Amino acid sequence: MGLAVWCIKQGHDPQVWVIGLSVGHFFTFVVLELILPRNPRFNLFRDRQSLNDMGFNIITGAIRPFLAGLLTLIIVWFNEFRIGSDIATLWPSSLPFAAQVLLAILCASFMDYWVHRAYHTVDRLWWFHALHHSATQMHILKGGRMHIMDEVAHALTTPLPMLLLGAPTEVLLMSSLWGVFTGNAVHSNVDQRFPSWAHYFLPTVQLHNLHHSTERRYQDSNYSGTTPLWDWLFGTLSHPHHCELKDMGLKEHYMPDNFLKQILFPFKWQLKPPIQTTPDIIDT
Ligand SMILES: [Zn+2]
Ligand SMILES: [Zn+2]
Repeated sequence: MGLAVWCIKQGHDPQVWVIGLSVGHFFTFVVLELILPRNPRFNLFRDRQSLNDMGFNIITGAIRPFLAGLLTLIIVWFNEFRIGSDIATLWPSSLPFAAQVLLAILCASFMDYWVHRAYHTVDRLWWFHALHHSATQMHILKGGRMHIMDEVAHALTTPLPMLLLGAPTEVLLMSSLWGVFTGNAVHSNVDQRFPSWAHYFLPTVQLHNLHHSTERRYQDSNYSGTTPLWDWLFGTLSHPHHCELKDMGLKEHYMPDNFLKQILFPFKWQLKPPIQTTPDIIDT
């Protein structure tokens, strides 16, 4: 994040340094997974789903520029019809840059929290999100193991309120980079240690591993990937020191192994949901 601030101050082209820092962060964690593995049984080079994970990472990465274009169109439309003209000046631009970035991270994580919670509580949404939860081991590629519809919902909803309020581009860039970096860290198989209090404020690998548990009570907690504050506030925080993580993945094996079938199955299940695997019924 410090390097990003330096790049902004130097006036470097964001299209270059955002990609550079994201790629650099990703490969740093690939190397760290080999040197300091959190779980020796997990390994992206031996995971039979790694090729599929790469496919999903490529798709989600490729559609992001189109989604950014769509967001810009929405903002233009709002301004054209003067719907958002009054609120477009509400962002506190006079605050110090660090305070604005912190505010943006809190706003983004608030939106992310409710979108993610909806994916867990509405069955028809869950089928799209189940792909992310079907991972039985954690490593750096799992952060991007997202269904295209899951990615679309996150990408469109998370930055939208801040754009409408008139947040500066640099602040939004810092907020989204925080999302990329923490997404890598919480899914990585890198040994990371935190004091007990840190799990209330920072997105930790222990918190997110619990979210990937096969047990529904942990799966339906720790929704926020960028700060657990909202989970703490809304009563959905599972503190790693008070919970025992057994296995990760889905309780029942209903996710196909084939890449194309994984993309198509949420659409297919909208028409004919397999009752016996509905999340609400799994743990009863
Ligand atoms: Zn989830
Ligand atoms: Zn995850």
